[in-house]
Amino acid sequence: MHSDPLVTPRLLATKEDPSFHGHFRTWGQMPAGGPLLVAEAEQAGLRGRGGAWFSTARKLATVSAGRRPVVVANGTEGEPVSRKDKTLMASAPHLVLDGVSVAADTLGAAEAIVCVDRCDTQSIKVLTRALSERGSIKADDVSIRLETAPTKYVTGEESALVHWLNGGDAKPTFVPPRPFERGVGGRPTLVNNVETLANLALVARFGSAWFRALGTPDDPGTALITVVGDVTRDGVYEVPFGTSVEAILSSAGAASSVHAILAGGFAGTWVPAGTAADLTFDRASFASVGAAIGCSSMVVLAEGSCGLAATAQIARWLAAQSAGQCGPCINGLPAIAGALEGLVAGDRRRRWQQQLTQWLDMVEGRGACRHPDGTARMVRSALATFAEEIENHRRYGACRAEAPSVPVPRMDGPWI
Ligand code: SF4
Repeated sequence: MHSDPLVTPRLLATKEDPSFHGHFRTWGQMPAGGPLLVAEAEQAGLRGRGGAWFSTARKLATVSAGRRPVVVANGTEGEPVSRKDKTLMASAPHLVLDGVSVAADTLGAAEAIVCVDRCDTQSIKVLTRALSERGSIKADDVSIRLETAPTKYVTGEESALVHWLNGGDAKPTFVPPRPFERGVGGRPTLVNNVETLANLALVARFGSAWFRALGTPDDPGTALITVVGDVTRDGVYEVPFGTSVEAILSSAGAASSVHAILAGGFAGTWVPAGTAADLTFDRASFASVGAAIGCSSMVVLAEGSCGLAATAQIARWLAAQSAGQCGPCINGLPAIAGALEGLVAGDRRRRWQQQLTQWLDMVEGRGACRHPDGTARMVRSALATFAEEIENHRRYGACRAEAPSVPVPRMDGPWI
């Protein structure tokens, strides 16, 4: 027996009983991997759910060409406004581990590693128990071990994660070689987000047609979406791709009058509420307004909250998260955050807006990773979405709008 494909939740179907027993009762026997799974993943249109949306089949095919590959399941989720991976690991640890197992089987990998944040005690507990359950019945041919990575925003970047697994700092490395060429222990390494692997386990069980029974032709399946901010029911929602954004926000209890949403995480895109209401949750719809799904999170900002202040807070936090090894992060991001703070304070002594535009131009495309680019994208979208507020700050000084309820973590500690 398995769940009806036309009914969600799919990925979170075992939420009430995440034990091996509950998993088996819901999904049945774990499938085998193998070369056919690459073709099935291609047919299914499965893409990476960590934010890059790269074709899973192409990644599998590339790594399978190398010798003695390694599989890494990335559950570090360093994005503060995303909880989807933590929710998935707590609700369906065995589906994630099935995905690890079938990926290893497909690649002929002898080693597989599941990485979570070292402050994420819930995931560590659930996965430790799940690995023990599987070990006792010898469920996996591959040896799977759990590693707990440092709590940092950039830890989840795949080259940073591989660098850390190889004994270095959790900092992105200048590429190439990419992890799929030379990764853990110098071996070709498949790094996949845990949600991607859970979906791979479903494709392996039920095939591409089943997988495509939900979602859109370009984005088949379901999405795990984190909704936070000015909502009464923040949390993770599983919906088919193509679901109306308005319906998702309504389920989350969004404020009756929304000002804007920040789509795709802190390094995402601000979208005015009127525009967001017409979107459906899929890549094409978001791209039509210059946004991206990213890590599938939406931060809701209510009418009456200052979008400029929210942007300044996020930019300051992002500036503090860099790995501190490239000029754009060391100099550019703090300068951008400072300019935004100047605008928020209504300080008219300096030409903050002009300087901001110059610094944004200077940081883009200059880092070893995309951290500066993401920050610049978010700030540019704020300049467009909150243009009226910026003009008012420039003319009349600091505003009296309510403090935004964007969950920006403290600077001085882990935010899990
Ligand atoms: S761009 Fe920034 S975050 Fe990325 S590697 Fe360089 S310093 Fe680190």
